[in-house]
Amino acid sequence: MTTPVSEPNIPPSNHRHIMKFFVLCIVTLVSIEFITVNTVPNESRTILNFRHKLFAKGMWMYDKKKTLPWVPLQLIEFHPPSTNSKKLFPDVEAGGRFRPSECVSRHRVAIVIPYRNREEQLRNLLYNLHSLLARQQLDYGIYVSTRFNRAMLLNIGYSEAIKIYDYQCFIFHDVDLIPQDDRLLYNCPTQPRHMSAAVDKFKYKLPYPEIFGGVSALTKDQFVKVNGFSNIFFGWGGEDDDMYKRIKHNGYDVKRYPMNIARYRMIKHSRDKGNEPIPQRMNNLKNAAKRSEYEGLSTLKYKILHLEQKKLYTWIHVAINETEIMADLRNKTEMNTKRFGTAFRGESFVR
Ligand code: UDP
Ligand code: MN
Repeated sequence: MTTPVSEPNIPPSNHRHIMKFFVLCIVTLVSIEFITVNTVPNESRTILNFRHKLFAKGMWMYDKKKTLPWVPLQLIEFHPPSTNSKKLFPDVEAGGRFRPSECVSRHRVAIVIPYRNREEQLRNLLYNLHSLLARQQLDYGIYVSTRFNRAMLLNIGYSEAIKIYDYQCFIFHDVDLIPQDDRLLYNCPTQPRHMSAAVDKFKYKLPYPEIFGGVSALTKDQFVKVNGFSNIFFGWGGEDDDMYKRIKHNGYDVKRYPMNIARYRMIKHSRDKGNEPIPQRMNNLKNAAKRSEYEGLSTLKYKILHLEQKKLYTWIHVAINETEIMADLRNKTEMNTKRFGTAFRGESFVR
């Protein structure tokens, strides 16, 4: 009887190698797709978008079921190249002005950015806004006002922008919020619109229903009717909630885009020196509605130190006299207390 010959030691089949190779290819392709979508310069994005459009129309040869692309077409973020930005947007005119050449836009919009010491963030935002807004065929201009007191800078940006062009509406825009969806239209709202509803920092959820900070849009009429932003918020916090109250007090409603559209990324930063939280901010809010009738755009005071039309934006550098503004406010509050009685008493505007 012969003992069975043991099975020869078969080398691992070629199949396994081929399988490994295919898996590696797929992983590489998927990674390239993701990396490209998130970091591409404009030119390659055009190609990519074109392919995505084919995908969306079901024309892409591998996609007979018309499934959407992995990365939705609307999800965009542009990363500014390190080259000189002067050559980047040939259609943008001095002062950050743009209007579509192929049609007359329905909306004349001024973007107002409150700013101090955030150069990198400003560069990033300008790059993203010019890329996005031109495609939305808006007739727009970008105004960057600097010093500090966020709300006052927004009032100042408004006041200077209307001297330059007949804008119909205004988008007040924090420098660190990057829009992440093409459908986030920066056009004129019918009711005051809170734009930055879904921010990554807050896990794309609305932190509280009355929030109006970050990015917001109002028409000229709405802004004038609510008497602009309050001027008394020197430091961090409160001015956006104050604006919400002004809006409600004047019979408007705050609207938002759906949460899957109103998406922004907040560029990471720490709290800035010289912009400490205002201890009195909650107290100030108590009479926000009434105060809107006698303090705000109507009492705005500032001095222009420098106004310059740069390539991608209009630069507005101002001087603000905090002592004078707060003294004015105390006088007005006293006057109103005499006129309307105790409703105004007990309010303290000390910082
Ligand atoms: N900001 C600025 N420099 C400062 C402080 C604030 O440019 O030193 C502007 C900037 O536009 C910023 C906005 O004010 O996005 C709001 O301030 P911050 O980002 O600190 O507030 P947050 O909403 O993140 O708490
Ligand atoms: Mn911020």
